[in-house]
Amino acid sequence: MPDDDAGHRLAFIRDTIARTARIAGRDADAIELIAVSKTFGADAIAPLIAAGQRSFGENRVAEAQEKWPALLAATPGLRLHLVGQLQSNKAAEAVALFDVIHGVDRLSLVTALGKAMAAAGTWRDCFLQVNIGAEPQKGGCAIADTESLLTAARTAGLPVIGLMCVPPAGIEAAPFFALLRKLGRRLALPQLSMGMSADYETAVLLGATQVRVGSALFGAR
Ligand SMILES: *Cc1c(COP(=O)(O)O)cnc(C)c1O
Repeated sequence: MPDDDAGHRLAFIRDTIARTARIAGRDADAIELIAVSKTFGADAIAPLIAAGQRSFGENRVAEAQEKWPALLAATPGLRLHLVGQLQSNKAAEAVALFDVIHGVDRLSLVTALGKAMAAAGTWRDCFLQVNIGAEPQKGGCAIADTESLLTAARTAGLPVIGLMCVPPAGIEAAPFFALLRKLGRRLALPQLSMGMSADYETAVLLGATQVRVGSALFGAR
């Protein structure tokens, strides 16, 4: 994809978020667009950085370790999000590279991240991932377990700032976004990481504070 296409796609998505936020009576500046760059290399990422994009997301620690250190060194002020599943034995590497960790979904990972952050003296903002559609194959804690996981995460010292979800594929996402918002309100967690290329407008209407957009920015994977 030529560089100007990347700039145009970014402008289009930013504009769509701004228009949707206005409809919902929300401040568009309070919505963080995370450009999910998994499978794309520095050649595809650099034009977005040049166009002013600052938040990026990756779903694999090893892949991110290969491409991000050079990009981070070249541009101060970038914010890197880990949006995928995290294995406990990669917790220290994740804490070293990422500013925000979205996939916190179980006690063993809470324990590993707490130890890794304490050892590094670096406290990374975390989202608890909720299995909002109760899908057996999917990551995320059960809705009923979210409160106890939050308590455990706070006890371990993790700065939990919000909830994250990936709703079931192939059906309307709005009820799942609404359910995550309700859960966030109940737990007094104001930030909601929800919405991807196909449904980020719906997510903004329903209160998303972070949208994670990959293919609509970078093209098909
Ligand atoms: C890949 C991915 C995204 C982006 O998906 P697109 O449909 O390409 O926008 C968002 N969130 C997570 C957790 C992902 O793994």
